[in-house]
Amino acid sequence: MASDEVSVVVIEDDPHISDLVAMYLRRDGFRVVQAGDAERGLAAIGRESPRLVIVDLGLPGELDGLDVCRQLAAATPPVPLLILSARDDEVDRILGLELGADDYVTKPFSARELVARVHAILRRTSTHAGGQAPPVVEFANVAVDTGRREARRDGEVVALATREFDLLAFLVENQGLALSRQQLLDGVWGPDWYGDERTVDVHVRQLRKKLGTDLPLATVWGVGYRLG
Ligand code: CA
Repeated sequence: MASDEVSVVVIEDDPHISDLVAMYLRRDGFRVVQAGDAERGLAAIGRESPRLVIVDLGLPGELDGLDVCRQLAAATPPVPLLILSARDDEVDRILGLELGADDYVTKPFSARELVARVHAILRRTSTHAGGQAPPVVEFANVAVDTGRREARRDGEVVALATREFDLLAFLVENQGLALSRQQLLDGVWGPDWYGDERTVDVHVRQLRKKLGTDLPLATVWGVGYRLG
C-alpha cells in the first residue's frame, strides 16, 4: 500500500506537539505538512488536498481551530478531521456543533494512540471509496447516495461530516434492524475507537437535525436506533 502518498496536514501552534505528531506519522510513511496557525493550515489544505487534517482547537491569530473545522465541514466531499483539544468539555461543545469531527484526542495524548486513530479514520473513509456505484436509497424527501457519499433533502445536498455520513450509510446498510449503540460504535467508529456511547447519540441528533423528520430514524427503547 502506497501510504507514502497519503498526506496529512497538522495544524498546531505548539511546536513540540506538532513535531512529535509529525514524527510519528512520518515514521508510518505519511507525508506530513505542518502549519502553526489556521491561515497557514488552510493554505496547506488548499495546496495538498490532504486525506486527513489534524487540528488543534486553540490557535493564535484571527482564526482558531473551530474556524478550520467550519471550513472543512462545508467542503464537498468533506475532509476527514481529527481534533486536538485541551479539555474534555471543549470536545463536548465541538460534538454538539454541526461540525462533526471524525475523532478527537484530549491533551495530553499518546502519539501512538493518535496515529492509531489516524489509521482508523483512513480505513473507515477509504472503504467507501471504490467499487461499483451502489443504489441511492430514498426515504420520503431524503436520498442517501453512498456512491457519491451524499445525502440530499428535497434534492439539495446536505453538508454532513464524514462520520455523520458513515453512520447514515451504516444505518442504510442495516435498514430495518435495531442496532445497539455499541454495534454502531463498532461498525462506524471501529474497534480502535475509545469513545463512549454518547457519541452515537450526538451524531444521531445531528442527522435528525440536518435531514429532518422524514428520515425514519427511530429510537428503539433499551436497544439503540433503527432506520426504516
Ligand atoms: Ca494551541
